[in-house]
Amino acid sequence: MANYDYDLFVIGAGSGGVRAARTAAATGARVAVAEDRYLGGTCVNVGCVPKKLYSYAAHFHDAFEDSRGFGWTIPEAPQFDWATLRDNKIEEIKRLNGIYGRLLDGAGVKLINGRAKVVDTNAVEVNGERITAEKILVAVGGWPWTPEFEGSELTVNSNQVFDLDSFPRRFLVLGGGYIAVEFASIFNGLGADTHLIYRGELFLRGFDQEVREFTRDEMAKKGVNLHFETNIERIRRVEGGLEVTLTNGERLEVDAVLAATGRRPHLEGLGLEALGVQLDTDGTLKVNERFESSVPSILALGDVTGGPELTPVALAEAMHLVQHHFGDKTPPPLDYENIATAVFCHPNIGTVGLSEEEARARFDAIRVYSADFRPMKHTLSGSDERCLMKLVVDDASDRVVGAHMVGDEAGETIQGIAIAVRARLTKADFDATVGIHPTAAEEFVTMRSVTRR
Ligand code: NDP
Repeated sequence: MANYDYDLFVIGAGSGGVRAARTAAATGARVAVAEDRYLGGTCVNVGCVPKKLYSYAAHFHDAFEDSRGFGWTIPEAPQFDWATLRDNKIEEIKRLNGIYGRLLDGAGVKLINGRAKVVDTNAVEVNGERITAEKILVAVGGWPWTPEFEGSELTVNSNQVFDLDSFPRRFLVLGGGYIAVEFASIFNGLGADTHLIYRGELFLRGFDQEVREFTRDEMAKKGVNLHFETNIERIRRVEGGLEVTLTNGERLEVDAVLAATGRRPHLEGLGLEALGVQLDTDGTLKVNERFESSVPSILALGDVTGGPELTPVALAEAMHLVQHHFGDKTPPPLDYENIATAVFCHPNIGTVGLSEEEARARFDAIRVYSADFRPMKHTLSGSDERCLMKLVVDDASDRVVGAHMVGDEAGETIQGIAIAVRARLTKADFDATVGIHPTAAEEFVTMRSVTRR
């Protein structure tokens, strides 16, 4: 048997890479990780974590307004200071980077600072040194992608938007995916005059149609200026800002433009092409159930493989990969159905399972139960924010095949519902569950009349 320097060499210390490295090391494998940027990858540094912190910051805006009806007076208009938020966020992320470093260290994983290049089926090169490994795991994630148009170099991407030097009083975001709606809500909440530009007729393609429409209406009520069926034609720098011309002829002057137009695999310079590692048509790295690429010693997981680009998915993949390659029994294939997800726009979206449209396509007959109501908090706050909850049921089996919510803390609520949906529970099970009163979530177990079939 060949004598390798390591049993596993991981490229990329993001969520998936770190989890795979630590878990493999715990089985006794000799593991190294190469990382050239920051520990914790996108999620910790320029994704989930800072985004959620900024989302909290933005929610205070509503909280100040809502408090009046409950008897609070705020003597002066609250002021928001961008630098405080940004710099506190930077400190918190430094702390998390340290934790990731210590986790790897504690697990006995060798951390190498540098960008690794795969030079052979069992060898990488980092900082000029050749290192061999029985398995190489490509966990390099994705990178924001911006289309080219006149002035596209004047945009910032989601890696850069957290650390802007100054707060953009007028903010524009291009795109209609998770990142676009989240940042439109964040900057709107922080007090910027905010525009969202999306080329299609309605953002959040792929989500439940009613959820999309409800979110559109709620975001518009909160003051986000939504522009659909248009795109950016050009951006020019003008005195005091950026002039954005849309394809519908409209012109807007703003201080910053965020391009939230998707992410691509971050494979540049990794040397995989030379080894003949097969990529999918969309440029992602194709893997089998064991997370092996077309070159079996080269493994991959996470965003680079083109599955759902979500941290918990990368973590689950890492655990599976390690069981396959370093465990003593073969795990069942990872189940990608019913992965719950939240979009942290304001109000939040939480969703699991099928949209109404997907369920209609898959089953002969479905029942939809939905509730669109004013949350209790807003009886006194004076806010006109509403909440949507929705269950999609396969009529024949009575199984709840989809659950959707738009409202406060929707992710927190849907996480619990996701267990029930994954466990294939029926509407009768939901009905037999006694609610928690008074909560918004109790609607999920008290919706009795069919909204439509
Ligand atoms: P998405 O792929 O979700 O959305 C990209 C958006 O950009 C789409 O609306 C797309 O339009 C639009 N777009 C693409 N190309 C162009 C173009 N040439 N001109 C104009 N618009 C264009 O990517 P995101 O960047 O929002 O997020 C990446 C991934 O990260 C998400 O898919 C998600 O998995 C993950 N993520 C998860 C979060 C969470 O869990 N809360 C938060 C943030 C990100 P169209 O729909 O027409 O194709």
